[in-house]
This record gives sequence, structure tokens and C-alpha cells, in this order.
Amino acid sequence: MPWDYVPPLADMRFVIKRVLGAPASWAQCAPFADLDLETVDAVLQEAGRFAAGVLLPINAGGDAVGCVRDAATGEVRTPPGFREAYRAFVDAGWPALPCDPAWGGQGLPLLVDAATREMFVACNHGWVMYPDLLHGAYETIKAHAGDDLKARHLADVAAGRTLAAMALTEPQAGSDLGLLRTRAEPQADGSLRLSGQKIFISGGEHDLTDQIVHLVLCRLPDAPPGTKGISLALVPKWLPDGTRNAMHCDGIEHKTGIHGSATCAMRYEGATGWLVGEPHRGLAAMFLMMNSARLHVGLQGLGHQEMATQNALRYALERAQGRAAAGGGGAADPIALHPAMRHTLLRLQALTEGQRVIAYRAALAIDEAAHHPDAARRQRASALAALLTPVVKAFCTHQGFHGASAALQVFGGYGYVREYGVEQTMRDARIAMIYEGTNEIQAIDLLLRKVLADGGAALDLWLTEARAEAAACAAVGLADFAAALHAECDAAQQATAAVAAAAAGDREAPLRVADDYLMGLSHTLLAWAFAASARAAQGAADRPWSEAKTARMRYGVQWLLPQARVHWQRVRALDAALPVLAAP
Ligand SMILES: Cc1cc2nc3c(=O)[nH]c(=O)nc-3n(C[C@H](O)[C@H](O)[C@H](O)COP(=O)(O)OP(=O)(O)OC[C@H]3O[C@@H](n4cnc5c(N)ncnc54)[C@H](O)[C@@H]3O)c2cc1C
Repeated sequence: MPWDYVPPLADMRFVIKRVLGAPASWAQCAPFADLDLETVDAVLQEAGRFAAGVLLPINAGGDAVGCVRDAATGEVRTPPGFREAYRAFVDAGWPALPCDPAWGGQGLPLLVDAATREMFVACNHGWVMYPDLLHGAYETIKAHAGDDLKARHLADVAAGRTLAAMALTEPQAGSDLGLLRTRAEPQADGSLRLSGQKIFISGGEHDLTDQIVHLVLCRLPDAPPGTKGISLALVPKWLPDGTRNAMHCDGIEHKTGIHGSATCAMRYEGATGWLVGEPHRGLAAMFLMMNSARLHVGLQGLGHQEMATQNALRYALERAQGRAAAGGGGAADPIALHPAMRHTLLRLQALTEGQRVIAYRAALAIDEAAHHPDAARRQRASALAALLTPVVKAFCTHQGFHGASAALQVFGGYGYVREYGVEQTMRDARIAMIYEGTNEIQAIDLLLRKVLADGGAALDLWLTEARAEAAACAAVGLADFAAALHAECDAAQQATAAVAAAAAGDREAPLRVADDYLMGLSHTLLAWAFAASARAAQGAADRPWSEAKTARMRYGVQWLLPQARVHWQRVRALDAALPVLAAP
């Protein structure tokens, strides 16, 4: 049975239109006021065709062949078919989808772009790594670069004629960017000369575009130590006079997955660059790129889970082993009928559908934060986007990998061998838990910066929205969804109060429970997603579809939400000190 992909267009449309009511929000935002759902449908259909028809056929080959670096020149060749696919991607205008028309973009909502990315990554994560940083780079250059740099690069980045790399990590500076050492010396002509070494730079070198702009974190000579002394520079592979910049790819990594993506060790040897944003304020400028990138990484987890789930389901409906009910002889039943496998598949489906609602809600919040005419609404949306981003990044990627692993189990031994694509999906999915700020760093960001720092104000905003959904569910007879959602909101509120109280006297306490806090809150969001989906499904014309959707969401409430209790219980045990580790 071939590894295949059917774009989940019906569910995407359901979430965008019925669950989130996005068209009503677009109607209020000037750049999207003329956008209609038919246009969005057409865009998503075309994106699905591109994903399944162009990206999927080169996915397994990209994994098998990987990238090749020429040791003499440092040039990197991408796997067969990657260049052609990228050219088709640019020609079709995909990179510019959410960019400003003033810079050659199509001005579509980030939400629509998010749905296309979910499909692209499901079909070829290695390939997607190249254009995935474009939008963040575009936003960063647009918001923080000077007019000269914008004129030189922004339209090309928006259109995808130039690709971008994000160069943060150094051998001694991973999660702690305060340790980075790359130096930037100001020159008389206003440029910078950069010297230093970066590692793990995705798309630092490749053959998809001639020009590659690196956004490099560096230190100016008068930089204070730590994160307060980090600046951001744009360093292009090709300089304005047509000469090659002094930057070299010293090697590419041999990785667990995403073999089609060139992960480069870069050396800058007096490379010419230009400051982006204020001196020593590089991290603030880079955060624009990172937030957008974090949403994209969350979508990677979602895409992998969708891919793994639908293939596991197809396999389980065909593969027959034993009888589903105890006793009796006769023909074997499809494994999809065995209760254990049914649980696995239902769990995967409910999680995928629930996470799609959460991730798309975050994208809608980012759109509203940027474009809603009402300042108060923009502020609320911005707080919500900030709160949801680390959850989407960490929860969706955690589940992307574990979901792919669960799907592999459905294939039995066949899942563990190369014949089916599920082992590649599992390997590819794993990195998303690590890069763009590890999931542990996301958990700390959520609890310390997004929840405790504002006294829980953003969280309260969110819980108010969730409780309104619970009330709406109760009003249409979905009492079990309403009760479950209220219970999850209560648990989140109590746990947050406990952490806030403990944090006052014990600064380590929140750090001990941050991972469980993120997982607990992720389940509160799931409870909301299940409730909102069940309620939205009540109005659907297609009754069998609506009933099946409600049943899956009810399954989620009954079988997935209990997991939250374990996480909240551990959060409430935050007084317990951790024992000292013994060295091996
Ligand atoms: C395939 C790939 C692509 C990448 N692409 C890029 C890229 O394009 N650009 C770029 O700049 N970087 C990139 N990276 C680097 C990536 O962002 C880092 O690997 C990541 O930030 C973690 O840093 P580290 O590997 O040094 O791990 P460390 O920071 O050493 O972390 C090791 C472990 O300790 C944990 N840890 C560290 N600090 C804390 C803390 N304060 N609290 C709790 N736990 C902590 C981490 O969560 C992790 O589990 C890429 C990496 C890979 C493997």
C-alpha cells in the first residue's frame, strides 16, 4: 500500500469557517476585507495538489540521497527534484502568500498560509526547511532593516527569489544565546565585518537560489555581556558589487531525519554585513522571526501527525489479523476493528483535529494582532498569540513525534522498515521538539514570561473565551463538553495560582513544573477545541459527518483529557525538591 496523502481540506475549511469564524474577522481587517471563502478554498486546494503531487514524490528520495557538499568549494547540492520543486513553488507565488502587496506579496492571512504549510510539511519536511524561514526573515527585515537593505532584499525575499537562513547557534551557545561570540566590527562605510562560527544553520548553503541572506546574531565591540549585548546583522552570500561574501559552509550534518535539509556549519571570516535594528537589540528584532518560525514548527508537528494518522488508518482498514471480538473462528478482521488499534487511531484523529483548531487559532490571533482596526482587540489578540505560540510549538511537535510513533505501531513490523513512509515521518518529526527553542525552553517561556510575568492577565483573557465556549455548548445541549471545559479551566486556574504563590518564595519552583504546566494547559486548550468543534459541527448540513465529528470530539473528552490530571497533579506538587543526580 503506497504512502499517500489526501489533503484534509474539509477539516481545514471546517476549522477556518465554522469553528473559528475567521471570515467574520477578515471582514473587519482592511487587508482581508475582500477575501471570500471560495478564494481560500481554491488556494488550499492548489496547495494540497502541490504538496501531494510535487513534494511527496521527492520525499523518500530526499531522505535516501540527502544533501551533498563539495569539499573543495563548500557548495551544497540538494537532493534530486528539490530545485525543480522550488522553482515551481516560486513560480506559483507560494512564498509571497502572506506578504504585503507593497512588497510584491499577495496579502493573504497568515491563517491561510498556515494551512498551506501544514500540507507542505506533511509531504516533505526536508524540502520545506528551505522556504520555511522566508516569512520570518521577511517580517524581520520589513520591521527592522534600514531603507537601503529593504530596497536591496525585501521584494526578493517576499517572492522567494532569495532564501534566508537564521544564524543563531554556536558550538558553545545553543539554548543560551547569551554565550554567543560571533564578532561584528563597524566599518567606516557603515557596514560590519563579521567573524565567527555558527553551527546547525538550516539552509546556510544550498543550490535552490543564488542569493541567500543570513540573519546573524553577533556582538559589537562595545557589547555588554549576555543577551543584552546581542546585535542582528544581515549577511548576504553575494555582495551588492557581485562578489562572493567571506562566508563558508565548512560541513553539513548527518542527521536522524530531514536529510533533504542542509544543516550547515558556517564560518564567517570578515564577512560583510549590515546591522538590522538597534545595536544590542538584536534578540528583540530576531524574536519576530522566531515567533513566526515557532508557529511554523508547531505546524510541522501537526502536518506529521495528520500524515501518519491517515496512512495508519488506511493500513489498518486493509490489514486483517485475528478476530476483533473474543472467541470464534472465521476470517480475520481488519486491525482497525481491534479495540486497541481503534483506541490508537481515534486518539490520533482526535488529537490531530484538536491541535489543528489550536494552531489555527494562534494564526488567527497573529492576523488580528497585526490588522484589526480596534486597538483593544489588537492588544488582546497580541497577548493571546504570545500565550499560544509556545504551546503550539511544544505541544504540536511533542505530539507530532509521539503520534508518528503510535502510527508506526499500527503498521507492526512493517512500520519499522523502510517500505512504508511512517519511519521517515517519525524520524523527521523528532527535530521539531528541539529546534526553534527546545520544548523545555518553550515551557519556561510560557510559564515565566507569558503567564506569571503579567500576573496571569493573558491567561485570564483566554480562560474567559474558553468559558464562554462552555456556556455556548451548554446552551445547545452539549452539557458533557461544557462540564469538561469548565473543569479544565478550573484546574488551570488553580494550578496557576499555586505556582504563582510558590514562585514568590522559591524562584526554582516554576522551573521544576514548567513542562507539566505546558502539557496541562495544552489539555485545557484541547478541551476548548473539542467543545468548539462539537458545537460547530451541530450546524453542518451533512448529518453523518457532523455526528462522526462530534463522536470523535467526545472520544477526546473521555479518553484524552484525563491525562491533564496527571500533569496538574505534578504541578501542584511543586514544593517537592528534586534529588541531586548521581554521576554515572
Ligand atoms: C536539524 C537542526 C536544524 C537547526 N537549525 C537551526 C537554524 O537554522 N539556526 C540556528 O541558529 N540553529 C539551528 N539549530 C540549532 C537548534 O536551535 C539548537 O540545537 C537548539 O536551540 C538547542 O541547542 P543545543 O543543541 O545547543 O542544546 P542545549 O542548549 O545544550 O540543550 C540540551 C538540553 O538541555 C535542555 N536545556 C538547556 N537549557 C535549559 C534550561 N534553561 N532549562 C531547561 N532545560 C534546558 C534543552 O532543552 C535540551 O534538552 C538546528 C538544530 C538542528 C539539529
